[in-house]
Amino acid sequence: MRTFWDELALYLEYLKAIGVKALPKKKAFERFLKLDLSPPPKSLAEIAKEIEGCTRCKLHRTRTNIVLGEGPENATLMFIGEAPGRDEDLEGRPFVGRAGKLLDQMLGAINIRRAEVYITNVVKCRPPGNRTPEPDEIEACLPYLAKQIKLIRPRLICTLGLVAAQTVLATTQPLSRLRGKIHEIDGIKVVVTYHPAFLLRYPSYKAQALEDLKLLKRLYEELK
Ligand code: SF4
Repeated sequence: MRTFWDELALYLEYLKAIGVKALPKKKAFERFLKLDLSPPPKSLAEIAKEIEGCTRCKLHRTRTNIVLGEGPENATLMFIGEAPGRDEDLEGRPFVGRAGKLLDQMLGAINIRRAEVYITNVVKCRPPGNRTPEPDEIEACLPYLAKQIKLIRPRLICTLGLVAAQTVLATTQPLSRLRGKIHEIDGIKVVVTYHPAFLLRYPSYKAQALEDLKLLKRLYEELK
């Protein structure tokens, strides 16, 4: 059985392999969530209009499409991943590649339809070569995610992967410390699990992901 330190070492190796140089600044997300938006967004279409042609960070230079997210404006459950990949960048939709197919299967495993949840990412443009978004890119893009959360007001958020968990929870703790717990931000419950792309690479973690999904399903049924 893997210890916490084995798991941490594996994560650090994974992060290094995908080019992570630094993790997001602590409290960044809390700060953005507390922003008094003036005027607050009235619809997702308004946020889409605002983000159109965005050049707030260097990712605009290499993207094909901005991937804002998709799902109902009144969704109870929101999934937040890290960043669009190649297929998402080409289609302009979140989670449509191999990782997207696995996310669909994960949802199917707990009898939740993709059409009933809102799906987005921390950053809305694809980092070149699918590298992890850098802290300045995350900070530049966070106001859009904060607006999506403030508008949709999901009752439950599921973060996918380390970057999304650390950004949303404004923490630097490893995933192993964050999983299996019910967190809360701004009155919204948050459950943490692995990113489907990580599970494609390390399928032995799927059993743990299923435990996270069961917790998510239990909360979802309670909150619906
Ligand atoms: Fe703008 Fe976000 Fe795209 Fe950066 S990642 S250019 S902040 S939309």
